[in-house]
Order: sequence, then C-alpha cells, then structure tokens
Amino acid sequence: LTSAEESVLEKIESEDVDFLRLQFTDILGTVKNVSVPARQAEKAFTEGIYFDGSSIEGFVRIQESDMRLKPDPETFAILPWRNNEDSAAARMICDVYDTSTGEPFEGDPRYVLKNALERAKEMGYTVNAAPEPEFFLFEEDEDGRATTETGDHGGYFDLAPKDLASDVRRDIIYGLEDMGFEIEASHHEVARGQHEINFEYDDALTTADNVGTFRTVVRAIAAQHDLHATFMPKPIPKINGSGMHTHLSLFTEDGENAFHDEDDEFDLSDTAHSFLAGVLEHAPAITAVANPTVNSYKRLVPGYEAPVYVAWSDRNRSALIRKPAARVPAASRVELRSPDPSCNPYLAIAVMIHAGLNGIENDLECPDPVRENIYEFDEQKREEYGIDTLPSNLGEAVDALEEDEAIYSALGEHVGPKFVEAKRQEFEEYLIDVSQWELDRYLETF
Ligand code: GLN
Ligand code: MG
Ligand code: MG
Ligand code: MG
Repeated sequence: LTSAEESVLEKIESEDVDFLRLQFTDILGTVKNVSVPARQAEKAFTEGIYFDGSSIEGFVRIQESDMRLKPDPETFAILPWRNNEDSAAARMICDVYDTSTGEPFEGDPRYVLKNALERAKEMGYTVNAAPEPEFFLFEEDEDGRATTETGDHGGYFDLAPKDLASDVRRDIIYGLEDMGFEIEASHHEVARGQHEINFEYDDALTTADNVGTFRTVVRAIAAQHDLHATFMPKPIPKINGSGMHTHLSLFTEDGENAFHDEDDEFDLSDTAHSFLAGVLEHAPAITAVANPTVNSYKRLVPGYEAPVYVAWSDRNRSALIRKPAARVPAASRVELRSPDPSCNPYLAIAVMIHAGLNGIENDLECPDPVRENIYEFDEQKREEYGIDTLPSNLGEAVDALEEDEAIYSALGEHVGPKFVEAKRQEFEEYLIDVSQWELDRYLETF
C-alpha cells in the first residue's frame, strides 16, 4: 500500500467508519455509489472492487459488463450527514478499470479528463480550474415533491431577512468544509431562490471531482431543511438561469502561470491568447458537452447574463469568455461563461482543455475583445465583427460536436458515440412532446 492508502486505513479506524461509498461518474455526469463495509478498504486498494457495469448509463454492453473500481486515496472524505458518535460513512472517488484487459476503462469520464491532462503535460503544462456553480433552492409540497416555489425573495447579494435561505446556505457551507472544501464566498444570486457558492481553484481533476461532491452535498443538506436544491439550468422562464462559469489557467513545470504577461494590454500571454482562440473556435462542439440538456438552451438566450455569442471580452459579461481582472500574476486566467451545472464536469473540463491546447498547438490568432454589450448588436453588426452564435438547441449542438473531429475524438471511442447517441435520443423525445406552452397557446385558439 502507498502511504496515502495507509493513512486512509488509519482514518477508517480512528473515525469508526463502518461503510465506504465507492463513487464514480457515468457519462451523463451522475454520481454512482457502490457501498462496501469499511473492512474491505485494503482489498479495494490492492485488488479493486468488482461491479457489474451493464446497467450504468452508457458504460458497456451486456456481454462485457465486468468493471473494477480502484479508489483514489486522495479523495477520501467522511460524509458529514452520516456521521454520529459511534459510526461514520466515508467516500472515495474511483478510477474504473476494464476487467478483461486490466486497462483503464475508456468509458470512465475521469479517464477522459486524465487524458486531456496528460496531453497538457506533454506540452509542458498543468491545468488549474475553478467552477462557479449556481443553483436554486425550492420548496417541497406536502408529498415531498420538488416545486418551483421559493421561500425567499432576495436578489443579487441581498442579506437576511430578505434572504431567508442564508441559514440553509450556511449549513451547506459547513457541510462542504467538513468534506474538505475551501470556500471563498457565497451569495444570493440574481433570481429569487438562486444561490452561488464559490470554492477555491484546484488542479483540473480535483476540481471536476469537487463539482460532483458539491452537487451531492448541496442536495443532501438542502433536503435536511425540506428544500429541493436543483442544478437544472433554467427552472423558471424569464428570469436568470443557473450557470457554472469555469475559470481555467495553465501553469508551467516550474510553477509559473503560463497565461500571465504583464506587458500585454490584457495581462495575457501569447499562450493564453492562443488558448482562448482555440476555445472560441471549438465553442459550438464544447456547448454539446458543457450544456448537455434540452433545458440548457433555455438559459443560453439574450438578456439573462448567459452567453449567446462567440466572443471574448475583458469588460462586459455578455461575452462567452471573459478575462477577469487578476490581482496577482498567478491569478491570470480565462473564464468560460457558457457551462451550466447539469454538465458532466470531467467531460466538460476535458473538452475545454483540448480546445485550448489545439489553439496553442496551431498557434491560432485571437480575435479582438468585444467591449460593447453584444446582446444589443443586430445581425449586421455581428457579421461585421465576425461574431458567431452558439447552437440554439441540443440537436444543433450535438451535430456541431460530431462535425468537430478534434473535440469529438477527445471524448474517446467509447464516450463520444455513447454521448451523441444518448443526447440525440433525448432531443428527439423532446421534439415529439407537446408542451404546456403549446396547449396554453393553441388549445382554445384553434
Ligand atoms: N446566472 C447567470 C448565468 O446564467 C450568471 C450570473 C452571474 O454570475 N453574474 O450564467
Ligand atoms: Mg460568480
Ligand atoms: Mg454567478
Ligand atoms: Mg463568473
């Protein structure tokens, strides 16, 4: 056993952990659990834990369904909502292996991200990432089912008593801190019932792990308050939806921020400019992965602080990519504003990285920033500036993904086709449905 594995075994002993939840993520981004008695921890480290992968979304075909989970000891954490005096439960995030070959399983999203990081490493970089997940807290009805009613009527950065949910948010933060999160800030977002909690940036793999944990903790603690937390991108029409802006930067092997250049007008190095250009170039394909639900596209419309147009800016927030002001050189970074919290964080971060690295590899020229409010541009002005629009629905986005060889192949031979198949099906199901809007609009008119 490694020393990290040894120390997990010690913690299991000292904290009276009786059950271990071994976690991994399916292609759609849902966190899956296999629970084993804690005494199996050593075996999990040495041999792995076998499970049947055939019923996990998009994982494998029936005839090749045996998978092996190997826990990453660095991800050990005691679950704060299942911790009492004489017993506790803990989790570890796992890598998935194919039992027939003994190799990492290509359908494991964590592996897809690891491949992206491997590519970055070969080019001399490590990647840091920080997400800003937003979510709504909704009331439950008498049967415990989620509604879209909110108890609070706060707005951006409002404080109690208007922001009634701040108690819940505080408990969520305690829960996250118990799980090892470094919380930077939290605030009431623009919409009623909408919140944002920011946690510290980390290496891209840890950050993707953190997003899954974050969603789990937020839902669990909200439920203790009889509230339903949702990461659905646009639960209520005509008010802001929930995004998950993602900040990215590359560091060199000697720990320098490769995005920083103090002589540049925007504080950004040539590397950063090319990275940015790569993300802009591959934006339509990235959208399929970073905005993977039918509902995602109800958020990506003008007027609600969500991006629609493929451009970058150092000032305004209507652009797809923003260059946030950096207080210190190490903080130079770019912020992609399109991702929403319904995405699979491993896949979304992986495609963003590949797009940026393509930009660097091909020395792409970065367009000028757009400093005006692009929402107010008409089509002619957008054309003049050479500004494209993001795909307007899931179907278009999936087409763009399939057509973008670089991004599609970055998902790997397993995840790419499975993802496209699942998303096509989801979009087609939506297309043939008859919505409440249609009934309201047409039922009595015709
Ligand atoms: N909720 C907005 C979005 O959909 C972002 C609002 C903000 O953080 N300024 O992206
Ligand atoms: Mg924010
Ligand atoms: Mg926000
Ligand atoms: Mg932001």
